Amino acid sequence: MEWPGSDSSPRDEDTWRTPFASSPGLWPRQGHRPGCGSTARTPRPPEIVTDCDTPDSYGRLCFPGGRVKAITFSFDDGRVYDRQLVEMMNRHGLRGTFHLVSGQLDKEGYVKSKEVKALYAKHEVASHTVNHPNLTKCSDEELRHQVVDDCQALEALVGYLIRGLAYPGGEGDERVAKALAGFGIRYARLVGTHDWFAYPKRPYFWVTTCHINKMNEDGKKLMRFAATPALMAIWGHSYEFNDNHSWNIIEEFGKNYGNRPDIWYATNIEVMDYYDAAKRLIVSLDGNTVENPGKMSVWATLRGKTCELKPGQVAAIAN
Ligand SMILES: [Zn+2]
Repeated sequence: MEWPGSDSSPRDEDTWRTPFASSPGLWPRQGHRPGCGSTARTPRPPEIVTDCDTPDSYGRLCFPGGRVKAITFSFDDGRVYDRQLVEMMNRHGLRGTFHLVSGQLDKEGYVKSKEVKALYAKHEVASHTVNHPNLTKCSDEELRHQVVDDCQALEALVGYLIRGLAYPGGEGDERVAKALAGFGIRYARLVGTHDWFAYPKRPYFWVTTCHINKMNEDGKKLMRFAATPALMAIWGHSYEFNDNHSWNIIEEFGKNYGNRPDIWYATNIEVMDYYDAAKRLIVSLDGNTVENPGKMSVWATLRGKTCELKPGQVAAIAN
């Protein structure tokens, strides 16, 4: 479902929590320099574009390894059918995020606490709250309990920080989103889809490309992107494959789009971390220099040449 106020348009600007919300593309250096004129005349560096449908005259972000296609999955609830799903995903090199309800672990039909770490070792474990309530209807105190206690319970199982969340029932709003940021959550996923391949510009209102039932259809569209970065985000539940006798959907997807060298297979948090690193790139006004002040490599095609910008690197960009 799509909930009111959610933003399903990939072309809309991020209006919340992004320091460069006024920038149409990838975060050029803002503000005045000594000797610069009015704001309107402030020179701006050339832009590194992130979207698959925005033309660029200077540069464009790539995914790790210089790839232009990426796939990330997102599955909710932690039911026992995750076991078969993970086996199939691992076989095809597909990766994603499993949003678990800590209060349901070890109950009938749900995965067991003791198997969480090994089962999801190649994927991300993220929050789906303690009891799966509609977070928009929770008091501030209950909201904190549902998210923070869930994260702590899951962190104790997997041994790393839980930094992502899927809204139970797809229900979220600005109040909840702001609270999540305060709890150390970096992204929150909705259940709406936009049938497009843009990166999540509003991380706390992440709208995916498609539901699992449509992934083979949209996989064909993904393959058409040859030079511009296209992210395919897919969401669903493992029990849907079981209930609908549709395991063939994921098997077919794996055969066609798994284990490919030209696709980056990432978890949800890996996608967010990569874009966050990309946002920190600093482009000189003349476009001749790009600095990567972050802690991970970022790949981009700049003036027609694809390069890896290593952590801390100040790169000369040939004109
Ligand atoms: Zn759920």
